[in-house]
Amino acid sequence: MPAPTSESTAPVILWFRDDLRLSDNGALLAAIASGNPLICAYVFDECSPGIRKPGGAARWWLHHSLARLGGKIAALGGRLDIFAGAGAAIVLGLARAAGARAVHWTRRYGEAERAVDAALKVALKDSGIAGESHNGSLLCEPWQVKTKAGSDFRVFTPFWKAVRTMGDPPAPLPAPQRLTHCKLADDAPQPVSLASLGLLPAKPDWAGGLRASWSPGEAGAQTRLADFVAGGARGYAANRNRPDLPSTSRLSPHLRFGEVSPRQVFHAAMARLQSGDMPSGDAEKFLSELGWREFSYNLLYHFPKLATQNLQSRFNAFAWLAANPHQLVAWQSGRTGFPIVDAGMRELWQTGFMHNRVRMICASFLIKDLMIDWRSGEAWFWDTLCDADPASNAASWQWVAGSGADAAPYYRVFNPMLQGQKFDPAGDYVRRFVPELARLGSAHIHCPGEAPAEVLRQAGITLGKTYPLPIVDHAIARQRALAAFAALGRDEI
Ligand code: FAD
Repeated sequence: MPAPTSESTAPVILWFRDDLRLSDNGALLAAIASGNPLICAYVFDECSPGIRKPGGAARWWLHHSLARLGGKIAALGGRLDIFAGAGAAIVLGLARAAGARAVHWTRRYGEAERAVDAALKVALKDSGIAGESHNGSLLCEPWQVKTKAGSDFRVFTPFWKAVRTMGDPPAPLPAPQRLTHCKLADDAPQPVSLASLGLLPAKPDWAGGLRASWSPGEAGAQTRLADFVAGGARGYAANRNRPDLPSTSRLSPHLRFGEVSPRQVFHAAMARLQSGDMPSGDAEKFLSELGWREFSYNLLYHFPKLATQNLQSRFNAFAWLAANPHQLVAWQSGRTGFPIVDAGMRELWQTGFMHNRVRMICASFLIKDLMIDWRSGEAWFWDTLCDADPASNAASWQWVAGSGADAAPYYRVFNPMLQGQKFDPAGDYVRRFVPELARLGSAHIHCPGEAPAEVLRQAGITLGKTYPLPIVDHAIARQRALAAFAALGRDEI
């Protein structure tokens, strides 16, 4: 039975999900607008049908992000209650037990998440409680961006042009100054401790590199954004492909968990552009990367099986090699014998992040050199990336495979040696993550197999012993991949 409450005292519930911030949070502001007591809830949901469990690195991030959010809410007089279980059932139970007036949340775009939210909305309505969803994770809703013919975009450039012609997104909203909280009813679902969710690795604790690299939470996100737009964006267009330089924002995990909103990022960059402090080429390139994030969500919304099914059905016939466990493990652990691939995979393992250009090289290597199904790579990235994102990860893997929308052509097979020489010219990135090659000069660091024996000896390297021999011959693997891809028919989405 709902608790007896009057309109003026009935609590309002804010259900936090992928929007772990207080500023520019329209759902939160709507929830507190009435002045009624507030229940701030987060549900760790691994059991609703179709919900994909977060990977290890994302779980680590989530723990710290929730801890910081809880602290911020408490500092303003509120309280974050954390629950574990099926999201819709818990929020409905909370709302009913509290006699709540309304429940507010920021929209999500995955198929299973949308199903949860839709079911909740109906159940709330049946109980006479308003369920209100808000935009907060995207610049534009996927259903707002249409071609002139009214269909959905499959090509990025016209998509982004259409988004930009819709005008700038609304200015970010301020954070609340004060929050309230109310006691949960005895018959309401009961909160659990953050620790009880078991999000942190224990035995072994592999998160040292993540702790050293990141500061999860809204404050960390705002600092990173401010630092980036204040100075780092200069040279972005020219240097964003250089993993050896700190040229990109590294905002992706913060965006993934909604610690900063894309509107905040957009307007921060625009403000610097308009004040003349950010060159327009750099600003536009940076904004267009936010556009790729929007495009990925657009694809996820229209192709709910983005992480499991080829967008281009002709790729269903592709003759993937049965994953050779030895090669897959060599790729995962950064022991392929291709330095730029190994540096990227080790960066990922150590820090929960990998530079975008190197993500492309590593993905191309798995898909084209090893001919292992892109879904194996997507799953590994899902487990190891702090920013593992249901839209960008799947869309990007399909982009590299050639099976996606506006995808890289199948015949583009990255040469890992040439890519390394071009984008990590002095080899500093490789040296950082592959220390056994650190004493090799830039002439050979991306192809140690071509170094004279004496050079290897002086650098303390014995190929096949201190550093692996290449697990494939790239030239042969390339021909094999091209032949397999060429055998596919030509249907486009
Ligand atoms: P910046 O260059 O500073 O860009 C700013 C923001 O724009 C990023 O934080 C990100 O939100 C967005 N962005 C940039 N590039 C892309 C892109 N190509 N696609 C979509 N959004 C982009 N990104 C994720 O956020 N999560 C993922 O799980 C993910 N998986 C990927 C898997 C593969 C195989 C590849 C090739 C790319 C993947 N990306 C993913 C995209 C991209 O690599 C990262 O967003 C980027 O490296 C994040 O670094 P940054 O924040 O410094 O980016």
